[in-house]
Amino acid sequence: MAFWNKDLLRLTITIVLAAIASIFIGHFLYLLLIICIGFILRQAFLLNQLEQWLQSGAKQNYPASNGLWEEIYYHIFRLKKANKKRKKQLSRIIEQFRKSTAALPDAVVVLGEYDEIAWFNNAAKLILGLKKRDEGQRIPNLIRNPAFIEFLNNKDPEAILSIQSPANAQIMLQIKIVTYDKNAHLLVAHDVSYLKNIERMRKDFVDNISHELRTPLTVLKGYLETLDDMGDDYSPLLTHALQQMNNQTLRMQHLVDDLLLLANLETKKSQNDCVEVSQLLRQICHESSAIEQLNSRIELFIDSDVNLIGNDQELRSAFSNLIVNALKYSDQESIVTVQWYQSGDSAILNITDLGEGIPELEIPKITERFYRANAQREPEKHGTGLGLAIVKHTLSRHDAQLKISSTVGKGSCFSCVFPKQRFC
Ligand code: ADP
Repeated sequence: MAFWNKDLLRLTITIVLAAIASIFIGHFLYLLLIICIGFILRQAFLLNQLEQWLQSGAKQNYPASNGLWEEIYYHIFRLKKANKKRKKQLSRIIEQFRKSTAALPDAVVVLGEYDEIAWFNNAAKLILGLKKRDEGQRIPNLIRNPAFIEFLNNKDPEAILSIQSPANAQIMLQIKIVTYDKNAHLLVAHDVSYLKNIERMRKDFVDNISHELRTPLTVLKGYLETLDDMGDDYSPLLTHALQQMNNQTLRMQHLVDDLLLLANLETKKSQNDCVEVSQLLRQICHESSAIEQLNSRIELFIDSDVNLIGNDQELRSAFSNLIVNALKYSDQESIVTVQWYQSGDSAILNITDLGEGIPELEIPKITERFYRANAQREPEKHGTGLGLAIVKHTLSRHDAQLKISSTVGKGSCFSCVFPKQRFC
């Protein structure tokens, strides 16, 4: 305001001087007109000077001026200086970001709207085989793996893709795509070869040890049976000891069998046929009832004649695990319902019991190996702890899902949901 006042004062003084001069020479209005024209010309000159200064990039010091114009020059100069400082800060941050992402062990690729490569770090060169000249190219033209292309098209933020590295077949990758702006995505590829190797070693170890345990167990069991057959006059202590040894050997045999089955499910491809589900369920229910000597406990409802493309042995083992569990974890008198039916595009096997149920928090964990809900229950009820892990693996090999609903004290329902593409 002070500067504007200065300009105004200058104009007022000029007009007053003109008024005084007009007392002597007259023509006040002419003098006023000349003053106004002079004023306008001066402003036009100063405006032009500002425009030229801005056009030159406002690099040099601003031209000497005074009043309001000096104030305008000063503000522009200050804004420019602040802008320059901010720009410097931003480029430092960008540079730091680039340096840190370049040093990341994970491959990072910035993708544009059409999946074209905008930028990638050093690890992407090694892991994904990208080269400097690939910038601007669409990534599906460079990584032609069909699973990768489908994954890229879906851009599901939850999904993780496991594939071999296109640059080195020894490297296993886990890839994730993050959308960080409307049409901008970040592809992150993590080298999981080390973890995969450890996982393979673990599987091999379990597989080998289970195989190695089989023979001594068979020998032990053979001798125990012979001793059992021989001894009518054993002392009660020895009879009890033999009984215990028999039970424990049997338990160990089941454990080894289940471990081997699980290892096979994880590693080996199985032969698929058209499995007659109704027939299979009838057999399993009959056998389970016979073992329990409780013919009336299982109620079987076959409401669909759909059969499944799958492996008979694997499905048998999964279904019987679920039915045996339902019988095992419910009252001796309560009913277990087994129902095979179709709903929409799926075929569903429901196994429902009125037993002890599973606490809500434990439901997601019971399909893990050796996890037992209600671990404090009597030990003879425990199986190998691998049953549901086997069920889960078998179902995923048959593109099916396991759904569990349960209420403590009321019972549980285990549903196996098979998709239409498995029907035969
Ligand atoms: P286990 O050999 O101990 O039965 P599973 O893998 O078959 O092992 O089951 C894991 C755990 O899940 C069991 O220990 C049990 O606590 C729980 N469970 C499985 N089925 C049922 C069921 N029908 N009702 C209640 N709990 C169950």
